[in-house]
Amino acid sequence: MIRNERAVIADSLWSATANRDVSFPALVGAHNADVAVIGAGFTGLSAALHLAETGASVVLIDAQHPGWGASGRNGGQINVGLKDGPQDILAKFGGDWGEKMIRMAGQAADLVFDLIARHGIECAATRPGWLRAAHTPKTLRQLHGLADQWDAHGGGMTKLDHNAMHRLSGTDAYLGGVIDHRGGVLHPLNYALGLAAACSRAGVAIFGDSPATGIAPIAGGYEVTTPSGHVQAAKVILATNAYSGDLTPALAQSVLPVRSVQVATAPLSDNLRRSILPEGNALSDARRLLLYFRLDADGRFLMGGRGTYNDRSTARQIAWLRKISVDLFPQLDGVDWQHGWGGFVALTRDHYPHLHEVKPGILAGLGYNGRGVAIATAMGRELAHWAAGADPAHLNYPTSPITPLPFSFARETLVEAEILRLRLLDKLGL
Ligand SMILES: Cc1cc2nc3c(=O)[nH]c(=O)nc-3n(C[C@H](O)[C@H](O)[C@H](O)COP(=O)(O)OP(=O)(O)OC[C@H]3O[C@@H](n4cnc5c(N)ncnc54)[C@H](O)[C@@H]3O)c2cc1C
Repeated sequence: MIRNERAVIADSLWSATANRDVSFPALVGAHNADVAVIGAGFTGLSAALHLAETGASVVLIDAQHPGWGASGRNGGQINVGLKDGPQDILAKFGGDWGEKMIRMAGQAADLVFDLIARHGIECAATRPGWLRAAHTPKTLRQLHGLADQWDAHGGGMTKLDHNAMHRLSGTDAYLGGVIDHRGGVLHPLNYALGLAAACSRAGVAIFGDSPATGIAPIAGGYEVTTPSGHVQAAKVILATNAYSGDLTPALAQSVLPVRSVQVATAPLSDNLRRSILPEGNALSDARRLLLYFRLDADGRFLMGGRGTYNDRSTARQIAWLRKISVDLFPQLDGVDWQHGWGGFVALTRDHYPHLHEVKPGILAGLGYNGRGVAIATAMGRELAHWAAGADPAHLNYPTSPITPLPFSFARETLVEAEILRLRLLDKLGL
């Protein structure tokens, strides 16, 4: 169970199968560091690790524990790239930034596998490729167009027709799509806890149960306060993503937190396993409210989708995810569904992740739009370079001013309405 979480989204497969203890001591008394990192998901863990590797002293705190947020709850699909393809990135950001962003996003999965190998992280990581499946002729054309775009930027994807997608996915529900050979799967909580262990070995002081309650300027930096202590640091990194709260209201208001939920079966029989994603790929489809599914290392089937805020409708969605799984794979009828859980993803208005300087020396990276395993790890590294003194012009991702979303006071209602609209468009196949 995810501790201190609402019951409807707390029954996580990853918490039930974590290979390390999630308890970390709380920060007590006075601490000093070059950099204080707030939030120990992939963004904060990667930032802390890369900073410590440069010799900086780092204190990393989390309100709960490393991996408690989206990082320890996600589908474990190592997705590649940003929402836009290379052409749109170049059109929006121009040649210099565009090329850097394309390279960074295209290589983000390499960084994940490199960290796992370098730090001996046991998280069942494999790299069979990420399937992106089209449910309409229009999305098939878009996905095949994306493969062509990547071909002009080092490649990575192969187009799949209906038969090839059927063979790799085990369902003929899709017209075809692409396989992105750069992608893969892992156990997300074990990846986060493994990064935390690597941080500790590199000298990072990690504290759990330590919510930052204030950040006040002091001579030469900031003091970050928690209920039982404080950290004085020259720089602060905010890595709180969809869980950003009152600490920095403008940051919290710059993203739309939306629930994503998942269900998982008990380990399947060998026969069933061989009939679903037989080569171990992860799959996301191209619906606006996408479905994403995979098998885990023990042969459990996992299905995920976007949810809503309301607990009753989340419970209904968990039931619906089980039903849609059986619609796609009738052989799952009658299997034992053992887990149902969820967490918040952070959506941005432009669908891009953001790097911000909240105040001089307070840096933030967030807004992965539901695709953060690889890109949050990569953004953490950029934050580390920035905090270590790199000129923002030399980073691999552009910084931008914080822009609060309009009507954030009514965001739950707006999200519910938007989800209904997207569901309708998906139903109509538009
Ligand atoms: C159900 C679900 C499925 C997903 N599936 C995928 C997938 O398959 N592939 C993929 O690439 N992405 C997926 N994502 C998205 C991905 O998990 C996120 O983009 C990524 O984990 C974000 O990492 P992060 O470190 O920025 O934030 P988080 O992991 O959310 O970490 C933020 C941390 O900040 C802490 N915090 C907040 N406020 C404070 C404070 N005041 N003081 C101290 N700590 C604080 C929280 O406790 C939390 O641990 C999914 C997300 C969800 C929820």
